[in-house]
Amino acid sequence: MLAPHPDDEVLLCGGTIIRLVESGARVSVVHVTDGEATLAPGRRASLARHRRREARRACTVLGVRDVLALGLADGGLSRSLALTAEITRVLERLRPDLVIAPWHGDAPGDHAAVARALDAALAASSRSPTPRAWSGETWRPLEPDGLVDTTAVRSRQRAAAACHVTPRRVLDLDAGLALHRYRGWAALGGHGTCEAFVMRPPPVRRGPRRGLPSP
Ligand SMILES: [Zn+2]
Repeated sequence: MLAPHPDDEVLLCGGTIIRLVESGARVSVVHVTDGEATLAPGRRASLARHRRREARRACTVLGVRDVLALGLADGGLSRSLALTAEITRVLERLRPDLVIAPWHGDAPGDHAAVARALDAALAASSRSPTPRAWSGETWRPLEPDGLVDTTAVRSRQRAAAACHVTPRRVLDLDAGLALHRYRGWAALGGHGTCEAFVMRPPPVRRGPRRGLPSP
């Protein structure tokens, strides 16, 4: 999973990650930046270290032990000349079957930059078949190809979100998670939670996925 900032792994697809881990998949989370621009400038280095620690705790709750930090500049990914090369390097190292990242319209700046860079990295990839790509939502809703039912794991997802103490000083992370409640409300008959994705290649049938792709 490519997270532009620590906390995106929980907000965008934390429930899907838990379900993938439970299905036996080997999941890695890659934080592209350390989220060091979250608070007022002036103590970015210490804030980056702090947010890395919080992110590792959150990933432990999700069941993920393989957590990588690329350390690119928070807020500067749309101007980064290194972003596509870094993502290419990560894909070559991890050789994933599936990559989860933000969708292109999720938010201008870092999220959209990661979406574009992943596109470029996959287009240049010589692997066959090309890894599947699921694009998810945090800041702006998308038109989904498919949804993952995360109802059974939502309390663990909330526990993982609680590990991100620093962004909670300026962001209501529970409001971010509420998007999944809306998806569940709309797709599961008025209850539960789902995470929505644009899926490449698209699923055979639209609607909530009770089963995940085999690891
Ligand atoms: Zn973010």
